[in-house]
Amino acid sequence: MNNVTLSIGGNLGNRMENIRRALDYIEERIGKIKQRSSVYESEPWGFEAEHRFLNAVVVAETALSPEVVLREAQEIENIMGRIRSGSGYSSRTMDIDILFFNDDIINTPTLTVPHPRLHERHFVLLPLAEIMPDRVHPVLRESVKDLLAIPLDVLSLSIP
Ligand code: ATP
Ligand code: CA
Ligand code: CA
Repeated sequence: MNNVTLSIGGNLGNRMENIRRALDYIEERIGKIKQRSSVYESEPWGFEAEHRFLNAVVVAETALSPEVVLREAQEIENIMGRIRSGSGYSSRTMDIDILFFNDDIINTPTLTVPHPRLHERHFVLLPLAEIMPDRVHPVLRESVKDLLAIPLDVLSLSIP
């Protein structure tokens, strides 16, 4: 079994109902949910939009590979009416990202795990810190609570 951490969220439609529906779909199509954070409200990240986002983080146990989890996540987004329009960020009913997959480091054209921008986003770090403050980011080698505590645009490196 694999342990996958997902970020879920959206800013269109009945946002709380969409969070609920996403949880049901994740249980149906990806695996049993072991942990879930509270829901956090935030301003859109990287673009202007009329509506604020609701976001949460969930941990599921899955027999699927990372690629298949991504495919299922995208399928859930489609079922929930996400419309992909052009390039860049835009409003959506549901976005599901893979934050962590076990402690795996994945770099393929379609999948980067841990999610490459998770440490830059309060709407991801806050729910993560709620349910797994001591989880260590396998690339940055900092715990989630330390990632949250450091200024988000600066990371320290030790001199080798
Ligand atoms: P961001 O990735 O900055 O949160 P986004 O979620 O709005 O932006 P999408 O349009 O949902 O971006 O996804 C674009 C592509 O990102 C997907 O087609 C997928 O192949 C790729 N991708 C790479 N790594 C991941 C990951 N860890 N989780 C989800 N998608 C990923
Ligand atoms: Ca995203
Ligand atoms: Ca996404």
